[in-house]
Amino acid sequence: MKEEYLKQMEEYADENNIPIMNKRGINFLCKFIEQNDIRNILEIGTAIGYSASKMAMCGRNVHVISIERDQERYIEAVKNIKKLKLDKKITLVLGDANDLSINFGDEKFDLILIDAAKAQYLKFFKKFENNLADDGVFISDNMNFHGYVDAESEIKSRNLRQLITKLKKYITFLEENDKYDTKFYKVGDGLAITAKKGVF
Ligand code: SAH
Ligand code: MG
Repeated sequence: MKEEYLKQMEEYADENNIPIMNKRGINFLCKFIEQNDIRNILEIGTAIGYSASKMAMCGRNVHVISIERDQERYIEAVKNIKKLKLDKKITLVLGDANDLSINFGDEKFDLILIDAAKAQYLKFFKKFENNLADDGVFISDNMNFHGYVDAESEIKSRNLRQLITKLKKYITFLEENDKYDTKFYKVGDGLAITAKKGVF
């Protein structure tokens, strides 16, 4: 029954152009969560709660806090996690992740998944860096941005070009960081896993 409902969520996302993680990306993430006994997750970019639900279902002790700024999507996500009976495992937050009112004090997360506005990844990273557990990881989605990151010259739209420039800046920030190591994976739309030096 849950599988059926998740399939409906995939269809809803497809019909409404909501960029949820694809199957390979989400399976990779799930395996990572199980293998590393990830429990406490912060997600930036809930959309309709698809990846949050998948993550909450793949580990026995997983709890997810997920932030979404779009009210319509947030409402859809609230409905979905209720239907899936995951409302105890997932806490949904409505608001812009950059907003000062959204902060988690000293709370530490084993995994912080960044999957919101691509131009703001560096901002999100810096804002929530202090909430990363010592052995925790950031996972950043869409590092290939549908192939555009490797094909910049083909981009005609100015907005898209600016977005790719910012995403590339973020990639350089990760690559040249002296506090963190990052591994890049081609799975899904490109995932980056970042941990404090010495953790990998
Ligand atoms: N993680 C989801 C997909 C997220 S799509 C999944 O795989 O199922 C990205 C979402 O991030 C969009 O719904 C968008 O509204 C939201 N978003 C973008 N910028 C944001 C911000 N600054 N704060 C909160 N949410 C944001
Ligand atoms: Mg994504």
